[in-house]
Amino acid sequence: MATLERTLGLIKPDAVRAGKSREIMQLAELSGFQLLAKKNLQLSQERAEEFYSEHQGKPFFPRLVEFMTSGPLYAMVLGKEDAVKAWRGLMGPTNSLAAKEQQPTCLRALYGTDGTQNATHGSDSAASAAREIGFFFPELQPDALEGPEATAEY
Ligand code: ADP
Ligand code: MG
Repeated sequence: MATLERTLGLIKPDAVRAGKSREIMQLAELSGFQLLAKKNLQLSQERAEEFYSEHQGKPFFPRLVEFMTSGPLYAMVLGKEDAVKAWRGLMGPTNSLAAKEQQPTCLRALYGTDGTQNATHGSDSAASAAREIGFFFPELQPDALEGPEATAEY
């Protein structure tokens, strides 16, 4: 039987502000993802800097942190076979302008605006997914999502 993999998805502040959160969650579920947990929250500057620490020092980093702290976002634990890769595929290219050219039906084409404001985030590896799920859902034990209570909202 196929193994359920988990990834961390974010609906970023631009898409939340545009009122697209529900639509994006529905598209995720229609694409076969289980919404195992979700949380609405706003990041402080310090937390946003920690989440994106791999990008510290890059020219776009201040803009990224300003954007990610500009309003509430949704964090989601998404489950699916090969979830990390599948979610990145559904999101499409990082830059929403490129996404609109290359993959017009992907999430970042549909809901994003440019290179920074790109509507969604997805973990880039299984190791990142474990770190990022722990970052937003510290109350969830690594195995706590396997059982029937996995569909509970947090
Ligand atoms: P991804 O989100 O596709 O994994 P990265 O990890 O490279 O992409 O970058 C993290 C986020 O930083 C992007 O989603 C985007 O919001 C922003 N970003 C990345 N590269 C740039 C850039 N060159 N200019 C502006 N913002 C960027
Ligand atoms: Mg990344």
